[in-house]
Amino acid sequence: MAECLTRFSRATVNRFRLKEKYLMKTTTQAESSVVEKATTSKRTLERILSPLEKIAESSAGLLSKPFGQFEHDGKSYSLPRYIYIGEKGGGDVIRIGIFATLHGDEPEGALAISRFVSALEADPDIAKGYALFLYPICNPTGFEDNTRHSRTGKDLNREFWKNSSEPEVRLLETEVWTHALDGIISLHADDTSEGLYGFVNGAVFSENLLEPALREAENFLPRNRNEMIDGFKARDGIITEGYHGVLQAPRGLARPPFEITFETPQKTSLHRQVEANAPALQAILVEYRYLMAIAQNI
Ligand SMILES: [Zn+2]
Repeated sequence: MAECLTRFSRATVNRFRLKEKYLMKTTTQAESSVVEKATTSKRTLERILSPLEKIAESSAGLLSKPFGQFEHDGKSYSLPRYIYIGEKGGGDVIRIGIFATLHGDEPEGALAISRFVSALEADPDIAKGYALFLYPICNPTGFEDNTRHSRTGKDLNREFWKNSSEPEVRLLETEVWTHALDGIISLHADDTSEGLYGFVNGAVFSENLLEPALREAENFLPRNRNEMIDGFKARDGIITEGYHGVLQAPRGLARPPFEITFETPQKTSLHRQVEANAPALQAILVEYRYLMAIAQNI
């Protein structure tokens, strides 16, 4: 921890503090209340999803499409899903899945998706040519209980493509499969990291998408540049290995999607984590569209 902190000068720290002050001021009252309530014990799915539901009611681009049904202790659950259809672009529609709160105690990603969708509403050009499949709460029971694991005691992010009997995992596997996603982005918050970092997998150019995302997010939070992060070798906050069973596409696809897991430092300000995610997601969309345009011209 000490090593990581020494990498940032006092001036840098002060800059972050100033930015934080600014963000605190500009954050709307409604958002503050969602953030505050999401971190208290009385967390409900309805409350954390309310900003997205509100946008979906009036937006031409955002649809609320919860799916699947399963039971835990007699209570019925489904998985929240929102589909954002961007304006038509030049080529084929690019299909990206963004998954959050697969670990129930990481609501930062769900709040970041709300923030990102607000940015899309304000500037629809960001999502031009895209169909975005958004899953803000992939682990609803863990979210309600404020636990990493689901109520059955499983870490859902170690269960993929292992013939898991966890309903959330089976439903998400089907989504990944049937939507033939071009890209998979998973949002996580790590309470052991002092800075931003991410995992890349899938398509070989995934690293070229994560780097600009980290760069944009660094306007809000420092990057973790340690040589080892979470037990893996890292370079400038980028890890190319990973755990088995994480949310990803099945192996062996002819055209594997890019896969990025984006991690924010959970012990830092919630506001900054939420704010850092939106420009990071935007950077990935911009870079991917650019890479595809180049590929089509080769
Ligand atoms: Zn996580």
